[in-house]
Amino acid sequence: MNKEFRKAIIAGNWKMNKTPAEAVELINAIKAELEGKDTSGCGIIACVPYVDIDAAVKAAAGSPIEIGAENCHWEKSGAYTGEISADMLVACGVNYVIIGHSERRQYFGETDVTVNKRVLAALEAGLKVILCVGELLEEREQGITAEIVSMQTKIALMGVTAEQMKNIIIAYEPVWAIGTGKTATADQADEVCGIIRNVVAGLYCDCVAKATTIQYGGSMNAKNCEELLGKENVDGGLIGGASLKAPDFATIINAAC
Ligand code: PEP
Repeated sequence: MNKEFRKAIIAGNWKMNKTPAEAVELINAIKAELEGKDTSGCGIIACVPYVDIDAAVKAAAGSPIEIGAENCHWEKSGAYTGEISADMLVACGVNYVIIGHSERRQYFGETDVTVNKRVLAALEAGLKVILCVGELLEEREQGITAEIVSMQTKIALMGVTAEQMKNIIIAYEPVWAIGTGKTATADQADEVCGIIRNVVAGLYCDCVAKATTIQYGGSMNAKNCEELLGKENVDGGLIGGASLKAPDFATIINAAC
């Protein structure tokens, strides 16, 4: 992390876990873990299932925890059964949205082009975006990690202005490390976050690249977070499994703050 230039952000991705009542319990447990701690050194976000948003926003009110969603559609409204628009999220008190998570790409037909449409719609609605990019295991083995994450980043950011980059967080999430217990080494995470930063510099300028928060995600936990967060280009984490355990999530937050 280099806090001189950019904000460290720890975001939980709850995925398809927790009922509204359980969401309140978990938010309250995280708040209790953070009680009396100085968390001003990093942003704290919980990205929750749509049905938990209302309960989570209310439970987090007055605390440093901000609430995010896990996806949004690119249209403002219309015949898109089962979808949720960015405006709807804003109306519910959501500040952040994850876009392009590998599980959306893998299981729900998300492409770089639809990721770009969602990013633009979310920004237009006033949301901050956590944009996920990352390579598959076979792509890493083929030696094309840099090409894959560069392409994903470039397409996702098409039409995004330098000014709007203030509302973009990029999460480098190697697909082979998500939910598998296999973590990228701190050096691998740092290297690819650095590659993404160079792509941002090429698209905009060094000053935008320096100011962009680039997280690592993929089996980050209470044990490995210090080493990962100790790297210059790793500005926080997008945390799945460990974000569902309040003490572990709090340990990661404390390591970033
Ligand atoms: C994620 O869902 O973005 C993630 C990184 O999951 P996990 O931490 O469980 O690997």
